Amino acid sequence: MQTILYIGITILTVAGMEFVAWAAHKYLMHGALWVWHEDHHRPHHDKEGFFEKNDLFFLVFAIPSATSYIVGLNVAGWFWLTFVGIGISIYGAIYFLIHDVYIHRRFPWFRHLDGKYSRAILRAHGHHHAITEKDGAESFGLLVVAKKYFGKRSEWAGEESKA
Ligand SMILES: [Zn+2]
Ligand SMILES: [Zn+2]
Repeated sequence: MQTILYIGITILTVAGMEFVAWAAHKYLMHGALWVWHEDHHRPHHDKEGFFEKNDLFFLVFAIPSATSYIVGLNVAGWFWLTFVGIGISIYGAIYFLIHDVYIHRRFPWFRHLDGKYSRAILRAHGHHHAITEKDGAESFGLLVVAKKYFGKRSEWAGEESKA
């Protein structure tokens, strides 16, 4: 029973992190912390080196994860929190593999991945990157993709990308 509870907490945390990441992207990264996110919206040719300032967000999200592990493993009665930490770690790995590797191709893995869902993810995030400014972007989530991105380009592309 305990095991099922811990697996449930882990799965709920992974799912909840999609919402947390969406909210952080929309309200912090395109808000007060735009200075760290801005270089991720610049065209690739004017970037120097492998890292972006935007990668600092991996460190930011490591804080609640590390805190969950430390408290969960060391404070009596809080062991369940360890699985919140595991869920945040799993989401971080998924985010890295899909956003950084699959979409932005920082490593040459899963280039041949092709399916309805993977294409919808690419379109939605591509549409997010169509805007290079702080304001006006859409599609802030990663795994939850609006239905329109499963359809034809004419259903989701705005005026800006028809030019
Ligand atoms: Zn963004
Ligand atoms: Zn991106």
